[in-house]
Amino acid sequence: MFSGRWYRSPRTVEELSELQDLERMLSEGNMAQNSDKWVWDDGAAGTFTVSGFKELIREGVNGMQDLHMKWEGWVPIKVNLITWRAERDRLPTRVALARRRINNPDVLCPMCSVADEDIRHLMVGCEFAYGVWTVICKWCKLDPFFAYDYDDLLMLYKNVHAGKWRKKIIRGIVMIITWVIWNTRNAKVFQNSSTNIIDVVAEVKSRSFLWLKHRSKFKSIVWQDWSSYPLYMCL
Ligand SMILES: [Zn+2]
Repeated sequence: MFSGRWYRSPRTVEELSELQDLERMLSEGNMAQNSDKWVWDDGAAGTFTVSGFKELIREGVNGMQDLHMKWEGWVPIKVNLITWRAERDRLPTRVALARRRINNPDVLCPMCSVADEDIRHLMVGCEFAYGVWTVICKWCKLDPFFAYDYDDLLMLYKNVHAGKWRKKIIRGIVMIITWVIWNTRNAKVFQNSSTNIIDVVAEVKSRSFLWLKHRSKFKSIVWQDWSSYPLYMCL
């Protein structure tokens, strides 16, 4: 059972974000009546060994070399952070909660209810996410692409030819889509809000426009032009 209280407020955006996730985990999971115990959470038998610990560190160091996210300044920190956590599989999807042994009987995706909800499914495999990416790619005039994993979406900017800012804008839009899909998923799980692809795309467009206009050198972009092609000012 849980007892005690918070002795200080969260000091960083990451702490606040993890605290919010903790609250969500507590509201979604079922509390068991038996006593708490420590478990070594390496996905194996649950027993700590020095060799297992060394292996975990080695995997972490090697794994860092394969990360693709680049921090994007025109996008707010909270959006960068959700992307950072998504790439490292640190968002509390239902499968991730089950992996942490939180007793939640339902691991199905809340958006489609046809597959288990892990980060790859939620952002790539789900028909809802696929619909969003398809519309956004058309808007950005990007060639159709095949994404197998979330990493592939972070590499989408490589399909844009020439121009540092053209790539930066696409990178930021990918982050904003991640953030909006995650928020939409949370609204569905915790408030039972209904949504559709058109609304999500509209939110991605409006957020991207406002943040780019106020947080980059493109202060004079015009909504009518931008909403038809978000790279119109850097041709
Ligand atoms: Zn789904």
